Amino acid sequence: MATVTNTDATQIKARRAVLAMPEYHPPLAARTALRLDFNENTFAPSPRVLERVHAFTAEDLTKYPEREPVEILVAKHFGLQPSEVLLTNGVDEAIHVLCTAFLEADDEALICTPTFFMYDVSVGLMTPNLVRVQADASLEFPFERFLAAITPRTKLILIASPNNPTGIVVSREHLLAIAAAAPQAVVFVDEAYFHFHGETTLGDVPNIPNLMVGRTFSKAYGLANLRAGMLVGPAELINYVKKVCSPYNMNGVALACLTEALADQTYLDWYIREVHTGRERVQAALTELGVPFWPSSANFVLMNIGPKHKQLVDVMRTHGVLLRDRSSDPGCDGCVRITIGIEDHVTRGIAALKTSLEEIGWTATQGAK
Ligand SMILES: *Cc1c(COP(=O)(O)O)cnc(C)c1O
Repeated sequence: MATVTNTDATQIKARRAVLAMPEYHPPLAARTALRLDFNENTFAPSPRVLERVHAFTAEDLTKYPEREPVEILVAKHFGLQPSEVLLTNGVDEAIHVLCTAFLEADDEALICTPTFFMYDVSVGLMTPNLVRVQADASLEFPFERFLAAITPRTKLILIASPNNPTGIVVSREHLLAIAAAAPQAVVFVDEAYFHFHGETTLGDVPNIPNLMVGRTFSKAYGLANLRAGMLVGPAELINYVKKVCSPYNMNGVALACLTEALADQTYLDWYIREVHTGRERVQAALTELGVPFWPSSANFVLMNIGPKHKQLVDVMRTHGVLLRDRSSDPGCDGCVRITIGIEDHVTRGIAALKTSLEEIGWTATQGAK
């Protein structure tokens, strides 16, 4: 038998594309304070979800999960064909498999910045050619310049609407115009924050051959820890994506709980109402305090604090509230994002914000927009 003599793992190098990929660093510090930093549901999913978790038996845990029966239910719930739906391990995985399925090394992917960082990470795995169209100071979607950035090499276009971290919407008309202008590309509309706005392109999927839509169950539904997302698109495109997707990508607990969460529309409607009311209250408080912000269509608000952005986030933490510093996002210098949750959490967030701004000696002149 041959003996392995060289076990020096430092000789192993990842693919060049992997070496060049940006790294995503999830928050490692304990998030025991009020979580107004990651745009999750701040409270709980439907009570039916926890009941379903408790109903799991030991034997249930020994079985491989079956995704297809739940995809049939999900398709019915959203008025789609099962062949148009792929359930994923969060929308993060949907983004990952889209890049794996549709991008070659010499292709281009197109995004508008600032936006969700995972687009950078997953595109970088496949190609160095990520084209970024930067929004101007308004942070509105730069439609004309975005259209002009489409080339014959553009193979994947990723757009979040409402966008993260801005809360700004890209109109359905603009999204459909982009899909029409790039028939050689998959246009992925990330509707992670759909529930807090209401406009969708889901109904356009049967009519537009290059349109795909993502929905997460991490935000409004409150299932972030279970990892559940949905990718919708024409059956032909979903088939390509399925080829690169692990057959057991979603675990059985998540699949069973997703069914319960979808069945409890009353709970979902309640949570969305809480966010709508809370968003009004946070925006009113920011106006009163003189903090510039971008009116949001999502469950968070981006505000411009100016040079004291980091100080604010640190002081808020001492008051038991987590915020997200977005200052290093392109075009977001001095910006901080606050998540909107249920009424009590909004109340605590606003109170801590008022105290903290006072403590750091913040004045309205510092938050130039
Ligand atoms: C939060 C978020 C996601 C990730 O959703 P998961 O389903 O938890 O992976 C996707 N897209 C955007 C724009 C987000 O903000």
